[in-house]
Amino acid sequence: MSLVVQKYGGTSVGTPERILNVARRIIATQEAGNRVVAVVSAMSGVTDNLIRMARDVSPLPAEREMDVLLATGEQTTIALTAMAINGLGKKAVSLTGAQAGIVTDGFHTKAKIANITPRQIRQYLKDDYIVIVAGFQGETTDGRITTLGRGGSDLTAIAIASAIGASLCQIFTDVDGVYTCDPRIVPNARKIPEISYDEMLEMASSGSKVMQSRSVEFAKKFGVVFEVRSSFNQNPGTIVKEENAGMENVVIRGVSVERNQAKVTIVQVPDRPGTAARIFTALADTGIIIDMIVQNVSVSGTTDISFTLSKDELPKVEQVLQPVAKEISALDLIAQDGIAKLSVVGIGMRSHSGVAARLFEALSAGGINIQMISTSEIKIAVILDEKMVDKAAGLAHDAFGLSIAPTA
Ligand code: ADP
Ligand code: ASP
Ligand code: MG
Repeated sequence: MSLVVQKYGGTSVGTPERILNVARRIIATQEAGNRVVAVVSAMSGVTDNLIRMARDVSPLPAEREMDVLLATGEQTTIALTAMAINGLGKKAVSLTGAQAGIVTDGFHTKAKIANITPRQIRQYLKDDYIVIVAGFQGETTDGRITTLGRGGSDLTAIAIASAIGASLCQIFTDVDGVYTCDPRIVPNARKIPEISYDEMLEMASSGSKVMQSRSVEFAKKFGVVFEVRSSFNQNPGTIVKEENAGMENVVIRGVSVERNQAKVTIVQVPDRPGTAARIFTALADTGIIIDMIVQNVSVSGTTDISFTLSKDELPKVEQVLQPVAKEISALDLIAQDGIAKLSVVGIGMRSHSGVAARLFEALSAGGINIQMISTSEIKIAVILDEKMVDKAAGLAHDAFGLSIAPTA
């Protein structure tokens, strides 16, 4: 008998009818001769709604209480899913993250899994139950409820698959798999049959939120092969696994878009040791996460330093950096939102030249101005006007032939 872990996301369990659909799929998997653990998310919109309600009662809710609140979303779904399966005549039991043995550190709202003791999961599977586990949550060693960051049910599924040695891990969602770009942005995007952990990780962390990036990191670290596929049909999805020799033949695997970015420029920073350290230590001390950083060549003893970050962090940044800019005698601090990041990702970049040129030419042909550029071994990212980013994604997608069916 095989051991299968399935995860069903928010849209897939978004209504009672959809929960029944999921219940039937889980039962069919068991009837095909498997033991099944299903991880479920909160019903779509529920987590956002809980966050809104928290802000309605308090401008800065305590993170401990935030986690107690957010965990209720998934708790609703596990009970309803287990009830639905029971109603269809099969044995099912629901487990919260803590009951499933998921122990985390104490970083509320973005906790990391420290270890998993799946004692109850194993016992119930042995007794022929289908086990339904709440995604996105765990518990600290001193008994506090924690959550694993937005999209964290993906991580729950992959971590449980690893802990119980599942032979199959399937992430069911509302698209047929991982596409060459978000199909909501580029309608002729194509499903990718296979993608390496590194490419999936770069795409997820640069805006392709079809998988939570931390879950992909975990899968890579522990060698969990998983499939992303639709809960609404039987189509095969995308396999995410270690790279193989053939994968480098494709120059670009996919295009990602990240909106809601902001750019901050500190103008005419005196070019002397310690100024960059002063700026970025002040930001780090406040827990602000920075993305791209660019420093210009110094002209007559001063240089401009620019960086990007999430737009939501902008008010905090201005508050932290105004005094620092003054202290280091910079001329000005300019903050700008309304920008977005476009990334092209592929391990083929390591062995193909001219990738950056091809991207820049495509954007230039579309009259799109590039504000900043950054590269890694398998990614080229550019900052653009947010209004242009959908058009840019389409142009990049076409420039690398991603819309065309690959020939066998
Ligand atoms: P779930 O609730 O199942 O976890 P998500 O909303 O987190 O689902 O992820 C699925 C969504 O991710 C899709 O509806 C799609 O719009 C978006 N998405 C972004 N980038 C991609 C991509 N490259 N391939 C497929 N879907 C993508
Ligand atoms: N419900 C959580 C969220 O919306 C976790 C998840 O869906 O994976 O972020
Ligand atoms: Mg998700």
